[in-house]
Amino acid sequence: MLPCEPARRTNLLDRATLVLNRSWSPVHVTTVRRALCMVFREAARIVSPESLMTFTFDEWVQQPAPSEDAHTIRSPSVRITAPEVILLNHYDRVPCHEAPFTRRNLFLRDDFTCQYCGRRTATDRLSVDHIMPRSRGGTTTWENCVLACVACNARKADRSLKESGLRLLRPPVRPRWTPYLNLRPSQRMDSWSRFSPEHHRRSARHG
Ligand SMILES: [Zn+2]
Repeated sequence: MLPCEPARRTNLLDRATLVLNRSWSPVHVTTVRRALCMVFREAARIVSPESLMTFTFDEWVQQPAPSEDAHTIRSPSVRITAPEVILLNHYDRVPCHEAPFTRRNLFLRDDFTCQYCGRRTATDRLSVDHIMPRSRGGTTTWENCVLACVACNARKADRSLKESGLRLLRPPVRPRWTPYLNLRPSQRMDSWSRFSPEHHRRSARHG
Protein backbone atom coordinates (compact mmCIF):
# COMPACT_ATOMS: atom_id res chain seq x y z
CA MET A 1 0.00 0.00 0.00
CA LEU A 2 1.24 3.47 -0.82
CA PRO A 3 2.08 5.72 2.15
CA CYS A 4 -0.68 8.18 1.17
CA GLU A 5 -3.28 5.44 0.76
CA PRO A 6 -5.02 5.61 4.17
CA ALA A 7 -5.61 9.37 3.89
CA ARG A 8 -6.96 9.09 0.38
CA ARG A 9 -9.21 6.20 1.33
CA THR A 10 -10.63 8.15 4.27
CA ASN A 11 -11.59 11.02 1.98
CA LEU A 12 -13.18 8.67 -0.49
CA LEU A 13 -15.26 7.00 2.24
CA ASP A 14 -16.52 10.43 3.32
CA ARG A 15 -17.56 11.38 -0.19
CA ALA A 16 -21.26 11.84 -0.97
CA THR A 17 -23.53 9.08 -2.30
CA LEU A 18 -27.03 9.77 -3.54
CA VAL A 19 -29.78 7.62 -1.98
CA LEU A 20 -32.87 6.79 -4.07
CA ASN A 21 -36.09 5.33 -2.69
CA ARG A 22 -37.57 2.17 -4.16
CA SER A 23 -39.24 4.20 -6.91
CA TRP A 24 -35.95 5.83 -7.91
CA SER A 25 -36.67 9.26 -6.41
CA PRO A 26 -33.76 10.90 -4.58
CA VAL A 27 -34.39 10.98 -0.83
CA HIS A 28 -31.11 12.07 0.66
CA VAL A 29 -27.36 12.06 0.46
CA THR A 30 -25.14 9.91 2.63
CA THR A 31 -21.45 9.06 2.75
CA VAL A 32 -19.79 6.31 0.73
CA ARG A 33 -19.00 4.60 4.06
CA ARG A 34 -22.66 4.48 5.16
CA ALA A 35 -23.84 3.56 1.67
CA LEU A 36 -21.53 0.54 1.61
CA CYS A 37 -22.81 -0.53 5.04
CA MET A 38 -26.42 -0.31 3.85
CA VAL A 39 -25.63 -2.35 0.76
CA PHE A 40 -23.72 -4.88 2.84
CA ARG A 41 -26.76 -5.23 5.17
CA GLU A 42 -28.94 -5.72 2.05
CA ALA A 43 -30.96 -2.59 2.83
CA ALA A 44 -29.98 -1.16 -0.55
CA ARG A 45 -28.36 -1.99 -3.87
CA ILE A 46 -25.71 -0.06 -5.76
CA VAL A 47 -26.86 1.60 -8.98
CA SER A 48 -24.64 1.96 -12.02
CA PRO A 49 -25.52 5.50 -13.16
CA GLU A 50 -24.70 4.61 -16.77
CA SER A 51 -26.55 1.32 -17.25
CA LEU A 52 -29.00 1.73 -14.33
CA MET A 53 -28.23 -1.88 -13.43
CA THR A 54 -28.33 -2.60 -9.70
CA PHE A 55 -25.86 -4.69 -7.71
CA THR A 56 -25.67 -6.42 -4.35
CA PHE A 57 -22.49 -5.99 -2.35
CA ASP A 58 -21.08 -9.31 -3.59
CA GLU A 59 -21.98 -8.55 -7.20
CA TRP A 60 -20.43 -5.09 -6.95
CA VAL A 61 -17.16 -6.45 -5.57
CA GLN A 62 -17.01 -8.86 -8.53
CA GLN A 63 -17.35 -5.99 -11.01
CA PRO A 64 -14.17 -5.14 -12.86
CA ALA A 65 -12.87 -1.93 -11.30
CA PRO A 66 -12.65 1.06 -13.62
CA SER A 67 -9.26 2.09 -14.90
CA GLU A 68 -6.78 3.05 -12.21
CA ASP A 69 -8.34 6.17 -10.75
CA ALA A 70 -9.38 7.97 -7.60
CA HIS A 71 -12.71 6.17 -7.18
CA THR A 72 -11.49 2.84 -5.89
CA ILE A 73 -11.27 1.79 -2.27
CA ARG A 74 -8.52 -0.77 -1.83
CA SER A 75 -7.57 -3.00 1.01
CA PRO A 76 -5.20 -5.95 0.88
CA SER A 77 -8.06 -8.35 0.12
CA VAL A 78 -10.71 -6.36 -1.70
CA ARG A 79 -11.08 -3.55 -4.17
CA ILE A 80 -14.37 -1.64 -4.37
CA THR A 81 -15.45 1.20 -6.60
CA ALA A 82 -17.02 3.93 -4.46
CA PRO A 83 -20.76 3.95 -5.21
CA GLU A 84 -22.20 7.23 -6.48
CA VAL A 85 -25.85 6.18 -6.23
CA ILE A 86 -27.70 3.54 -4.19
CA LEU A 87 -31.30 2.33 -4.34
CA LEU A 88 -33.15 1.44 -1.13
CA ASN A 89 -34.85 -1.95 -1.10
CA HIS A 90 -37.82 -1.21 1.16
CA TYR A 91 -38.49 2.51 1.33
CA ASP A 92 -41.19 4.24 -0.69
CA ARG A 93 -41.77 7.56 0.96
CA VAL A 94 -40.86 10.75 -0.86
CA PRO A 95 -39.58 13.32 1.60
CA CYS A 96 -41.49 16.55 1.69
CA HIS A 97 -39.24 18.92 3.58
CA GLU A 98 -39.01 22.62 3.37
CA ALA A 99 -35.62 24.17 2.84
CA PRO A 100 -34.63 25.52 6.27
CA PHE A 101 -33.74 29.19 6.31
CA THR A 102 -30.07 29.29 7.21
CA ARG A 103 -27.23 31.58 6.24
CA ARG A 104 -25.53 28.75 4.36
CA ASN A 105 -28.68 27.86 2.40
CA LEU A 106 -29.16 31.52 1.51
CA PHE A 107 -25.62 31.65 0.09
CA LEU A 108 -26.41 28.53 -1.93
CA ARG A 109 -29.76 29.87 -3.15
CA ASP A 110 -28.19 33.13 -4.30
CA ASP A 111 -25.12 31.28 -5.63
CA PHE A 112 -22.64 33.52 -3.79
CA THR A 113 -23.84 36.40 -5.97
CA CYS A 114 -24.96 39.90 -5.01
CA GLN A 115 -28.64 40.01 -5.91
CA TYR A 116 -28.50 43.72 -6.74
CA CYS A 117 -25.48 44.09 -9.05
CA GLY A 118 -24.92 40.42 -9.99
CA ARG A 119 -21.31 40.37 -8.81
CA ARG A 120 -20.08 36.96 -7.70
CA THR A 121 -17.56 37.55 -4.97
CA ALA A 122 -15.82 36.10 -1.92
CA THR A 123 -18.01 35.02 1.00
CA ASP A 124 -16.55 37.70 3.26
CA ARG A 125 -17.48 40.40 0.73
CA LEU A 126 -21.15 39.38 0.84
CA SER A 127 -23.69 39.93 3.56
CA VAL A 128 -27.33 39.11 4.14
CA ASP A 129 -29.45 42.13 3.25
CA HIS A 130 -32.99 42.60 4.51
CA ILE A 131 -34.96 43.93 1.53
CA MET A 132 -37.29 45.74 3.92
CA PRO A 133 -34.88 46.73 6.70
CA ARG A 134 -35.29 45.08 10.06
CA SER A 135 -35.49 48.52 11.67
CA ARG A 136 -38.69 49.03 9.68
CA GLY A 137 -40.29 45.71 10.49
CA GLY A 138 -38.63 43.56 7.80
CA THR A 139 -38.53 39.86 8.70
CA THR A 140 -35.62 37.42 8.47
CA THR A 141 -37.19 35.10 5.92
CA TRP A 142 -36.45 33.67 2.47
CA GLU A 143 -38.75 36.29 0.95
CA ASN A 144 -37.12 39.28 2.63
CA CYS A 145 -33.42 38.36 2.56
CA VAL A 146 -30.89 38.35 -0.25
CA LEU A 147 -27.11 38.41 -0.57
CA ALA A 148 -25.62 41.83 -1.20
CA CYS A 149 -22.04 42.91 -1.81
CA VAL A 150 -20.45 45.52 0.40
CA ALA A 151 -21.01 48.30 -2.15
CA CYS A 152 -24.68 47.51 -2.77
CA ASN A 153 -25.33 47.06 0.93
CA ALA A 154 -23.88 50.49 1.63
CA ARG A 155 -25.81 52.00 -1.25
CA LYS A 156 -29.09 50.57 -0.08
CA ALA A 157 -28.50 51.41 3.59
CA ASP A 158 -31.69 51.66 5.62
CA ARG A 159 -34.03 52.21 2.72
CA SER A 160 -36.72 50.06 1.18
CA LEU A 161 -36.14 48.62 -2.27
CA LYS A 162 -38.31 51.28 -3.87
CA GLU A 163 -36.61 54.14 -2.05
CA SER A 164 -33.15 52.87 -2.94
CA GLY A 165 -33.85 52.63 -6.66
CA LEU A 166 -32.05 49.26 -6.70
CA ARG A 167 -33.45 46.22 -8.45
CA LEU A 168 -33.31 42.56 -7.56
CA LEU A 169 -31.92 40.07 -10.08
CA ARG A 170 -34.68 37.57 -9.31
CA PRO A 171 -37.58 37.15 -6.89
CA PRO A 172 -36.30 36.04 -3.46
CA VAL A 173 -38.30 32.84 -3.12
CA ARG A 174 -37.95 29.89 -0.76
CA PRO A 175 -35.91 27.28 -2.64
CA ARG A 176 -37.48 23.93 -3.28
CA TRP A 177 -36.00 21.19 -1.10
CA THR A 178 -33.70 18.72 -2.81
CA PRO A 179 -31.64 15.97 -1.20
CA TYR A 180 -28.48 17.89 -2.04
CA LEU A 181 -29.64 21.32 -1.04
CA ASN A 182 -26.85 21.63 1.51
CA LEU A 183 -24.04 20.39 -0.70
CA ARG A 184 -21.89 22.74 -2.69
CA PRO A 185 -22.11 22.15 -6.42
CA SER A 186 -18.54 20.79 -6.33
CA GLN A 187 -19.59 18.03 -3.90
CA ARG A 188 -22.31 16.75 -6.22
CA MET A 189 -21.68 14.00 -8.74
CA ASP A 190 -22.41 14.59 -12.41
CA SER A 191 -24.14 11.21 -12.53
CA TRP A 192 -26.82 12.41 -10.07
CA SER A 193 -28.42 14.70 -12.65
CA ARG A 194 -30.13 11.67 -14.18
CA PHE A 195 -32.02 11.17 -10.94
CA SER A 196 -32.90 14.78 -10.15
CA PRO A 197 -36.59 15.65 -9.73
CA GLU A 198 -36.27 18.09 -12.67
CA HIS A 199 -34.99 15.31 -14.90
CA HIS A 200 -37.88 13.09 -13.79
CA ARG A 201 -40.39 15.76 -14.78
CA ARG A 202 -38.72 16.40 -18.14
CA SER A 203 -38.70 12.69 -18.96
CA ALA A 204 -42.34 12.37 -17.95
CA ARG A 205 -43.29 15.28 -20.18
CA HIS A 206 -41.44 14.04 -23.23
CA GLY A 207 -41.73 10.36 -22.64
ZN1 LIG B 1 -23.67 44.34 -5.45
